Amino acid sequence: MVQDHTRVFQDLIYVYPVISRRSRGLSIGVNLNPDKRCNFDCVYCEVDRRTPGRAESVHLDQLRAELSWLIRYAQDGGLATQPKFDQVPELTRVVRDIAFSGDGEPTMVPNFDACVQAVTGVMDELGLDDAKLVLITDSAGLDKGTVKRGLELMSARKGEFWCKLDAGTEPYYRLVNRSAVRFERILANLRETAQSHPIVIQSLFLRVHGEPMPAAELNAYCDRLNEIVQAGGRIREVHAYTIARPTPEPWATKLTAAELKAIADAIRERTGLPVEVFD
Ligand code: SF4
Repeated sequence: MVQDHTRVFQDLIYVYPVISRRSRGLSIGVNLNPDKRCNFDCVYCEVDRRTPGRAESVHLDQLRAELSWLIRYAQDGGLATQPKFDQVPELTRVVRDIAFSGDGEPTMVPNFDACVQAVTGVMDELGLDDAKLVLITDSAGLDKGTVKRGLELMSARKGEFWCKLDAGTEPYYRLVNRSAVRFERILANLRETAQSHPIVIQSLFLRVHGEPMPAAELNAYCDRLNEIVQAGGRIREVHAYTIARPTPEPWATKLTAAELKAIADAIRERTGLPVEVFD
């Protein structure tokens, strides 16, 4: 799942800096998918798939070297002199979080745990004790062994797991996320992960061919969240978004701020969960 903003900085392949509203400061994105692989094909995906991806697998030494360079560059004030970052120099020296989030789905890499270890190793070396480690995921690979081990490692390091859920039923999931992965597997992964670690649900609400999410679908979506909680899962909060940039499908369009707020209110009312809106 993509975080936002451009994922190309200098000649770096695996890392990129972002001033993020959600992090309230500097976030370093770790792009484990320069190859642009994803097991979803969301109608709103902002990854440019017309141009081919770059490296095919993650070279851990290069990942470490790039991450270490970028953290030092930020801490030493170099990033503060770069276009766009020079508009908010006071935010560029402290790394608030490091997020696995790139041009595809991070849990698709075969060595996710080794990637987490590479990142935590650099954090230890550079004394980044206060930075959070975030995984932004479409939830399809949360049941893989390497991913579960990675989540444990992250958990020991203020790890946060931001998991996508854009639908309440299989047909709507197929319409919006266009994935071959069964919806039931996504739900089981969310449930099982939330039973071990608190998760954040990230949901993008949009207009499809002019129609916002139907009321019955929104009810079903809330039911899915309630089922996770009833099964002993912990949902810290729900992040509700709409589309921010041009989409590959012209019929996938954004909601108004009022529509998104109404959806957030309905989720709060039906689930009792905290909902943060990003419009
Ligand atoms: S999960 Fe969806 S939005 Fe995220 S990279 Fe894959 S296709 Fe794009």
